[in-house]
Amino acid sequence: MERKVRVRFAPSPTGPLHIGGVRTALYNYLFARQHGGDLIFRIEDTDSGRFVPGAEEYIIESFKWLGIKFDEGVSFGGNKGPYRQSERRDIYRRYVKQLLDEGHAYLAFDTPEELNAKRGEIENFQYDASTRMSMRNSLSMSKEEVDALLASGAQYVVRFKVTPGEDVHVDDIIRGDVTINSSIIDDKVLYKSADDLPTYHLANIVDDHLMEVTHVIRGEEWLPSAPLHVLLYRAFGWADTQPRFAHLPLLLKPVGNGKLSKRDGDKLGFPVFPLEWHDPVSGEVSSGYREKGYLPEAVVNFLALLGWNPGEGHDELMSLDEMVQLFDLSKCSKNGAKFDYVKAAWFNHQYLIRRDDEEWVPAFDKLLKEQGISATARQETEVVRMMKSKVIEYVDGENNKKKRNISFVSDLWPLTEFFFRAPVSFDREDKFVRKSWTESSADEMRRMADVLASVDDFTVEGVKPVVDAWVEQQGIKPWNAWRVCLVGKGQGPDMYELAAFLGKEETLRRMQYAIDTLC
Ligand code: GLU
Repeated sequence: MERKVRVRFAPSPTGPLHIGGVRTALYNYLFARQHGGDLIFRIEDTDSGRFVPGAEEYIIESFKWLGIKFDEGVSFGGNKGPYRQSERRDIYRRYVKQLLDEGHAYLAFDTPEELNAKRGEIENFQYDASTRMSMRNSLSMSKEEVDALLASGAQYVVRFKVTPGEDVHVDDIIRGDVTINSSIIDDKVLYKSADDLPTYHLANIVDDHLMEVTHVIRGEEWLPSAPLHVLLYRAFGWADTQPRFAHLPLLLKPVGNGKLSKRDGDKLGFPVFPLEWHDPVSGEVSSGYREKGYLPEAVVNFLALLGWNPGEGHDELMSLDEMVQLFDLSKCSKNGAKFDYVKAAWFNHQYLIRRDDEEWVPAFDKLLKEQGISATARQETEVVRMMKSKVIEYVDGENNKKKRNISFVSDLWPLTEFFFRAPVSFDREDKFVRKSWTESSADEMRRMADVLASVDDFTVEGVKPVVDAWVEQQGIKPWNAWRVCLVGKGQGPDMYELAAFLGKEETLRRMQYAIDTLC
């Protein structure tokens, strides 16, 4: 019988969620939705030494912001819980016992010192069939010895007994058949008596089985664990319902080789975390996509394309619903995907310009407030309307001057300051100012100010016909000098629109100021 598709995203709460983890969750989401299946949110917190307070809440908030919804799991409910591994000790104990009883696992008493000594003694020491009989465990020792140790309260671990010399096949949806020989797999620790907790491997397999997971879609870094997982499923007698694997390609550095790291982001100025993260121990703050001004739709769209694409003839811009339709796990790339942060900004631009001007206002208003400026929502909407399609200049990582579209609401500030603050000085070295302010400018501006003063209806419709007629009759071109007066440089929107925005009084004040300063 076809099983209902059930997938899971199973982070360990060891810090903020890396953007690669977000992509893993997104692919799980797309796959689940596409098959009418369920997406489970499980917290893998069996490594108590690496637990970071706040990480779980951070992860949940990230997905809320991104619009990636889970069907069950921590904070979402469901009838296969608890979904936090630290709350499932009883369950794991039962399954550890099963493996021990059936001879698939054994107790090992070797202390860390003894293990270290062995590593010093034998080059590339591995705890496996070739060495286990020379170690202190329930296979090498008598039952009496083992019982005595247990009675004395000695700590132990439970190790998986791997049979050597067998090819283990992992059937991966993305990579095809991946085969490794069991001889290179060590007798992995599955459980530690010291903290009465299983390790990742055991908990992961038991939970995927009990939660009826059908597909394990996760990062490539977990591929080396997969053969062991296959052996575990078999040892438990669950081979028939073993989930299918899909190991996603790595996210690579934008430049150079290797895995994308936080350092790359810091160096090139882009976040590697969805939300800003305040490290509870070091106090360090790491930037997040949300706080940087990215729209969640843009982040999701951009991430979806790191390792998959909808193929020829499909627009790169896709809503989550469109992606659900088009996504194809089997067409994911095997090769790592370079993290193109310039493209990320392009996506943000695309989504931003599709938003209504009013939707820019809250972020724009916040930006202005930070500059000590308060404006009405109407004024802010007006400025957005006039300026959102402008291009900004920036310097790239290699110090080249480049131009790009407005990608973030915060890009507006350097382009819009003059709407809210009159120029106080004029840079005579500036090419535009030098060329635009000529000998006759002061006089022309004085006369133009008289014309403007006579206009009662100071809207574009009111001002434009009067000034156009005067300019025609005078045979002059006052536009650039006028721009110098109102903006201070060669930037800004249509002059009539700007004048109407500033109003008659402010327009005339700025003109007078420029005449007095530049004359
Ligand atoms: N807890 C693992 C992680 O932190 C999950 C790996 C898996 O999905 O099997 O990514």
